[in-house]
Amino acid sequence: MRTDIFHPEFKAQPWWWEAWTPNNALSQDPPARTDVVIVGAGYGGLSTALELRRNGVGAVVLERGDFGIGASTRNGGMISGGTNLGKGLGGKSPIAEEFERLKAELMGAGADSLSVLEDIIAREKIECGLHRNGRFVGAWTPRHYDDLATKVETYNKYANAGAEMIPRERQREMIASDYYFGGMHATRAGHLHPALYYKGLLEAAHRAGAILCAKVEAERLEKVTNGWRVLTPKGPIECREVVVATNGYTGDLTPRLKRRVVPVASHIIATEELPEPASKLIPEMRAIGDTKRVLTYYRPSPDGTRLIFGGRARFTAAPPEVSAPALYQYMIDRFPQLDGIRITHVWTGNVAFALDYMPHMGTDEGVHYLLACNGNGVAMMTYLGTETARKIAGGRNVPVNPLDGRDFPEHALYNGDPSWFLPIVGAWYRTRDWLDRRMAA
Ligand SMILES: Cc1cc2nc3c(=O)[nH]c(=O)nc-3n(C[C@H](O)[C@H](O)[C@H](O)COP(=O)(O)OP(=O)(O)OC[C@H]3O[C@@H](n4cnc5c(N)ncnc54)[C@H](O)[C@@H]3O)c2cc1C
Repeated sequence: MRTDIFHPEFKAQPWWWEAWTPNNALSQDPPARTDVVIVGAGYGGLSTALELRRNGVGAVVLERGDFGIGASTRNGGMISGGTNLGKGLGGKSPIAEEFERLKAELMGAGADSLSVLEDIIAREKIECGLHRNGRFVGAWTPRHYDDLATKVETYNKYANAGAEMIPRERQREMIASDYYFGGMHATRAGHLHPALYYKGLLEAAHRAGAILCAKVEAERLEKVTNGWRVLTPKGPIECREVVVATNGYTGDLTPRLKRRVVPVASHIIATEELPEPASKLIPEMRAIGDTKRVLTYYRPSPDGTRLIFGGRARFTAAPPEVSAPALYQYMIDRFPQLDGIRITHVWTGNVAFALDYMPHMGTDEGVHYLLACNGNGVAMMTYLGTETARKIAGGRNVPVNPLDGRDFPEHALYNGDPSWFLPIVGAWYRTRDWLDRRMAA
């Protein structure tokens, strides 16, 4: 194992936390009664609370850790609108066919998610290093390039993605690397500082009058006349509605929902300050992703001094000695010129996949949920939270968007604990990637 990759001041925590660390400064004790209790204070839970308050509805958010301890301050901060929906669906499965039939509506909702995110950032004046210079998706094989090319028209038509194919000869306009076989550039995409966006959303929900409770776990949900009783270590809360926004940390509070989401770890490293601006590696400060099964995603830090490089180095939580060298190797495969640059931070967090690779909102036995970001939740969970709040505030019990109330599949062999099969899936995906690339060489 390479040990020379670690900076002497190396930390096993998100680089984003240098700007804002999870804390409980805005925490209050939970009241005995409110209109809506929201479980989970990530982007999903906070945007639900913010929009409820804007509509005059009482909202209490319960977070079992410090505010921001979940994925919402750990992610890559990459944002797009609709082009990631349904990724992973293929072949002739009923779900793929349903996606094909409904793609105009579903991608439209994906496109709306980016608008909702940007509206909130502008309206609440959130300083979070938003860059909207597009995303380049590198093709891992020539066949992947051809597959992407078949999708561009659809992305442009239904998600207004502003996408075009970039052949390999033009790739250096996108990235200082010849690693990919060309790719797709979507202009309606970009990135932000995830922890500063989180901070802004937290403060906006607080300003709007939401009661935010850190280190208060929702331990049990009991149905009572006209609503719910939520049991917490700080006493019960009676409410009309409950919203579950626990995504990759969904637990035994909601066993039926736990069986519908597969938590998968994602890992990120941050480099030390680079000798040259990161825009030399990635012109225009774009975000970069690729078409590998074990995908990587990377971007300059908002100040353009470092590279933030993420991927599924392992599908489960892994110690820095395992995840950092794997990501480092992926990074220098793409940018050999970075060999010798040291890593200052490595961290991990959970995303949540649904068995149909689609995000979901709806109700299950009377409990509202917004779950399953499938690795892309900065815009999507903000949108689903906002939509859930509008639905509750409007007293509507019909679907309010195409993602609302769709069948949320489960599988007879999955009980909510993926630890026995994720290493196998990870190894299989890595082998498939390797084979695809070898055959393309
Ligand atoms: C390493 C990594 C990189 C990523 N990169 C990107 C990216 O570049 N772009 C993108 O769009 N998305 C990305 N994502 C996904 C994105 O971060 C998530 O989709 C998003 O943050 C989910 O927000 P959320 O509010 O649904 O969940 P979270 O932010 O995870 O919050 C859920 C919260 O629920 C709390 N909770 C659970 N159970 C209870 C309980 N019983 N009582 C009280 N609280 C409870 C947890 O403590 C947690 O804080 C990434 C994720 C990771 C981990």
